Amino acid sequence: MLLTLTTTHQPATDLGYLLYKHPDRVQEFKQSFGTATVFYPEATDERCTAALLLEIDPVRLARSAGRTPDFSLSQYVNDRSYAASSLLGVALADVFSTARSGRCDTRQEVADSAIPLEIVIPVLPCRGGPKTAHRIFEPLGWQVSATPVALDEHFPEWGASRYVRLTLTGTVRLADALNQLHVLLPVMDESKHYWQGTDEVDKLLRSGEGWLASHPERELIARRYLGRRSALTRTALTRLAELGDDSEDALEPAEEEEIAQPAERRESLNAQRHEAVLSTLVDLRAKSVIDLGCGPGQFLHRLVHEPSFTRVAGVDVSSRSLEIAARRLRLDQLGERQASRVHLFQGALTYEDARLSGFDAAVLMEVVEHIDPPRLAALERVVFGAARPGAVLVTTPNVEYNANYEGLTGMRHPDHRFEWSRQEFESWAGRVAAVHGYTAQFRGIGDVDPERGTPTQMAVFLRD
Ligand code: SAH
Repeated sequence: MLLTLTTTHQPATDLGYLLYKHPDRVQEFKQSFGTATVFYPEATDERCTAALLLEIDPVRLARSAGRTPDFSLSQYVNDRSYAASSLLGVALADVFSTARSGRCDTRQEVADSAIPLEIVIPVLPCRGGPKTAHRIFEPLGWQVSATPVALDEHFPEWGASRYVRLTLTGTVRLADALNQLHVLLPVMDESKHYWQGTDEVDKLLRSGEGWLASHPERELIARRYLGRRSALTRTALTRLAELGDDSEDALEPAEEEEIAQPAERRESLNAQRHEAVLSTLVDLRAKSVIDLGCGPGQFLHRLVHEPSFTRVAGVDVSSRSLEIAARRLRLDQLGERQASRVHLFQGALTYEDARLSGFDAAVLMEVVEHIDPPRLAALERVVFGAARPGAVLVTTPNVEYNANYEGLTGMRHPDHRFEWSRQEFESWAGRVAAVHGYTAQFRGIGDVDPERGTPTQMAVFLRD
């Protein structure tokens, strides 16, 4: 099986530095299931191509798959030697591991930039046909050509095989391209040929960093990558939702998936959280609301569309998130009256700020767990002591529920500084309420586990 990677970035031979493979040499890398060879069919300043050729040793493959006993002949006689598959994804990750990390000691600025790339995989199994290839690679900025390969070129009447010739053309950072292939080759193939450990979800999220959370087909990708292990897929999707859609793509609602709808498509935890907080604000008859740590503005979007709020504000420390929020709310297109209802500004919740005062209600949705514990007291003073809204709604993960996410070893999000049990949250909230003259009540959000509670917990603080 073969994969070629071409760039016309000038000088094109920089590709050798980026991949850490010299264009003048042919290099072999032993894999547990065969041998990977890297060589350069062309290497000029204008155009440079690296080829990864993987030769499968069916006997070694059968032995290395020792945990799934299958003594059929198909283990030895199959398409594995020429059709690209998850094995190519594994070899690619191994052979180009440094390039995949985005590091390049000699050409870091090129490694950091999107460069013109063309990737060709002459024979790729493609479940769902060429249209699946388009749905999976186009949202990542690739121009896709997926041509069905004839079953037998001498007998065109036999029709197409289940393979396509895939060509991806685009301007993409090399590390992103390699990580995308690593995840998406097994997704196209939909049969992983190696044992999946419990850290598969972590691996998926690591390789998916920066592109998977906002991919409209992330559900299909996670399901196929994790080999239809539904508990793992649920964990991955929850964690992707926690990572948030901090991207432009996320501005448009994801297309409904046609390919294989899960039997029960449950409302995402994100959506349930938004619903719960919004309905509480409405029940409290709040007129002015400030979203503290609003991020890229998903919840602000809901607030702005609720007519009972006469004034809506969002504050975040991240200017990039605020830019995305402004575009999501189409602030520049709102009429004057609507625009005067909404106010976005940059600020830190750990410093007193007059702009945070004067609201009926404030929302701290999935924010406190991002604050370093030594700075949490400052946030408490700023919000409950100085700004003093009539109500404060705080949501945060319930760490007890994490046991329901198969394969989750650490916290739900790499930036979380802590995750609290229900008891820890309630004692924190009880203390804050007592110190600052509020009363706190608690609610769970999401599916209820009889022992572990709900995935999200909420405290509603009302000023005495
Ligand atoms: N409330 C949003 C975003 C949660 S992510 C939602 O529910 O989707 C946490 C957000 O808090 C991030 O956008 C981060 O930039 C912001 N944040 C973290 N520390 C902050 C601080 N000290 N001041 C203001 N914003 C902060």
